[in-house]
Amino acid sequence: MNLTFYGGAREVGGSSITVETGNGKIALDYGIKVEEGLRHDLPRDLDAVVVTHAHLDHSGNLLTLADTGIATIGSIATRDITSDLLLDLIKVHRLKGLPIPYTSRDVEKVYHAWIPQERVGLPGMEVNLCPAGHVMGARMVHLKAEGKNLLYTGDFCLHNTEILDGADICALPKEPDILIMESTYGGTCRPNRDELVNELLKNIIYAQERGGNILIPTFAFHRMQEMVRRIDLALEKGLLPRYNAYYLSGLAEKITAYFNDHTEFLGKMVQDDPAPFNYARVRYLRRAEQIRQPALVVCTAGFGHAGFSRKLLFDWISDEENSIIISCGYIPKESPLSWARDKEVIEENGEKFPVKASVKQIELSGHADQSELVEFVKRVQPRKTFLVHGDAQQAEALGELLGTLTEVAIPSKGEQFTV
Ligand SMILES: [Zn+2]
Ligand SMILES: [Zn+2]
Repeated sequence: MNLTFYGGAREVGGSSITVETGNGKIALDYGIKVEEGLRHDLPRDLDAVVVTHAHLDHSGNLLTLADTGIATIGSIATRDITSDLLLDLIKVHRLKGLPIPYTSRDVEKVYHAWIPQERVGLPGMEVNLCPAGHVMGARMVHLKAEGKNLLYTGDFCLHNTEILDGADICALPKEPDILIMESTYGGTCRPNRDELVNELLKNIIYAQERGGNILIPTFAFHRMQEMVRRIDLALEKGLLPRYNAYYLSGLAEKITAYFNDHTEFLGKMVQDDPAPFNYARVRYLRRAEQIRQPALVVCTAGFGHAGFSRKLLFDWISDEENSIIISCGYIPKESPLSWARDKEVIEENGEKFPVKASVKQIELSGHADQSELVEFVKRVQPRKTFLVHGDAQQAEALGELLGTLTEVAIPSKGEQFTV
């Protein structure tokens, strides 16, 4: 069996790995780097693609396969949300004036080529999907081929969040021959979830007391629904003082409707609620001009690189009463959010903006941290482990800890292994 790592190797973004046996060849994920757009270096001589979850760093390049009819295997929720995110990808390219030779018809083709089943037989290979936590619909991939068991985690977490259960290790194969595991937080342990949520609320209250605007950039899919519901409930329960509170993102609004209609894909904690994402105190706005200040605003894009979050970041960054709260863990080095966090002055269209607002990072991430990653390996007991989806530093720190538990490899982009 040959494994080739086409992306997400010593980096986060563009995840794609091919598995080739004597009977055929499949890809595990087919992602892009969001800041770089579609790519043409991924193989097309495939029997199928298995997509772990809808995030574009795992699914975005499916557009380039639209005309091939190659089957995509993944959960129903991943199929449905991937379609929304691919449509948005096309829209964002057009808005930026970047050429993109695909339309909504190609997204339909991707949708119709999807096999939304949790167990699929291919020639000489069996594919099983297992819940991964992380985001709605995310799955790990268990492959059986040539007498070997391979487990690919995709992005995952073990801890439960407010709306989704973590991965269930008991449902996974024990002692797989090969584990391919994400390592986003390979070198980092985070405080537990409750502590982070408390820190978030404390920071919001502190900003409210100063009477400033509060900007929370986030991703339209899952992190937005989780964050807005969290804030809505806190406002309703009086854990946060009353304040103008909004979310802005047409894409998030569309995905939120899907979340309300499909609570069966979420954790038990929201399944009894007929519409857990109909918010009482956080209003949806179409345009930034509708914001009544001072306000708390949750909006896209998650890295502040586009959309409302980019606009409001530059509008609000130079006023010391305001607050920017970064809620994701990983941020690309060249994104407005990392500039705001790390620099004293940031620039937009040649204009300089001094960073006077409070900029705080509270990592309410859907990824396993270092302690969860080590626990996962201890319990699953793989013979050989490939660490992917982590910067080299993070993957290497984790590799050192795992060395006594499993044989570890940290592949480079393009590297091939026979296993
Ligand atoms: Zn993800
Ligand atoms: Zn990812």
